[in-house]
Amino acid sequence: MRDYYEILGVERDASPEVLKKAYRKQALKYHPDRNPGDKEAEANFKEAAEAYEVLSDANKRARYDRFGHAGVRNGVGGGAGFQDINDIFSAFSDIFGGGGGGSIFEDFFGGGGGRTRARQRSRGRRGEALRIQLPLTLEEIAEGTDKKIKVRKFVQCETCSGSGAEGGSGGYASCTTCNGVGEIRQARQTVLGQIVSVQTCPTCMGEGQIIQQKCSTCGGQGRAKGEETITVSVPPGVVEGNYLSMRGGGNAGIRGGAPGDLRIEIEEVPSDDFVRDGVDIYHDCFISFPDAALGTEVEVPTLKGRARIQIDAGTQPGKILRMRGRGLPELNSNRKGDQLIRIHVWTPRALTDEERDILEKLRTSPSFEPKPDLEEGRKSFFSRVKDVFT
Ligand SMILES: [Zn+2]
Ligand SMILES: [Zn+2]
Repeated sequence: MRDYYEILGVERDASPEVLKKAYRKQALKYHPDRNPGDKEAEANFKEAAEAYEVLSDANKRARYDRFGHAGVRNGVGGGAGFQDINDIFSAFSDIFGGGGGGSIFEDFFGGGGGRTRARQRSRGRRGEALRIQLPLTLEEIAEGTDKKIKVRKFVQCETCSGSGAEGGSGGYASCTTCNGVGEIRQARQTVLGQIVSVQTCPTCMGEGQIIQQKCSTCGGQGRAKGEETITVSVPPGVVEGNYLSMRGGGNAGIRGGAPGDLRIEIEEVPSDDFVRDGVDIYHDCFISFPDAALGTEVEVPTLKGRARIQIDAGTQPGKILRMRGRGLPELNSNRKGDQLIRIHVWTPRALTDEERDILEKLRTSPSFEPKPDLEEGRKSFFSRVKDVFT
């Protein structure tokens, strides 16, 4: 994948204004309306949108600067989360604001804003976007999982099919105040000539239609509180903060408006057995002092059940054993992390008289005299790691 800065043709320290300008230029050049049927232009268009999506967000940009593409693959399923070209169009309106998905087109092509008009006159209001948390255990993250989730939200009213009117969509009539136009034009004669003022119709709030009789189930809203059960397929290797987007999965619209989107955010459930570090997982293993001295075999938990590992005689506390490939998979890749086992030697806190006697005898025994191996102690973390096999 190409470098995002390169795609937009800007320096790495480009300001938000410079980025925006560069992106406009690219989007204008490769816009599908200008390059009908040109697959390469479409690919460039998507690429630019993805680059801008990341670089225009201070957090994502910082992560990209540090970790490259891997740092920003948040939208699960590749890229920055754009599934198809429609996502990019909807992202456009977010990026350039200005209300209404059509604003960018007017900006770019100086067109009559046909899309904006059409949008304004459509009935109802879009439902709110929702975000929910999806808690997953490390074991689930390791394998990937299908999760059923109940989403509490506004759902379409069944009685009126979301229209809000008794009798469904047929229950609307053209607004008599504005004659269905949605706006009121007033012409005034002044010394300078005729001045026309345009105002949103206060009766129908610009929709051009009014409900003749409100649906008694939802009171004219076209939606009601309810819940929906959805199944979410989570790929292996997700990280807290990753999210999956469901278009139209949010609140139902008001009076037949489009539903909002749903964002499902991954939350990692803390594990009793493991601490995650990227794709690696750490497990703290406590062994007894005699076991450390004599060597033994211990059972440790892994993400796929328990495993037995060998502890060598004379093992020092702080030793790290590595089980290669037993960590977490990397999202959208074949790479797998390791499980690292930190060995701790347990010092007993309470002793019986008999145990005390034995230890008193050992205290003066020559082999128990500490012989600090400074060389060993100063070794770097990774050269202290030893591979173990199960
Ligand atoms: Zn009206
Ligand atoms: Zn209803």
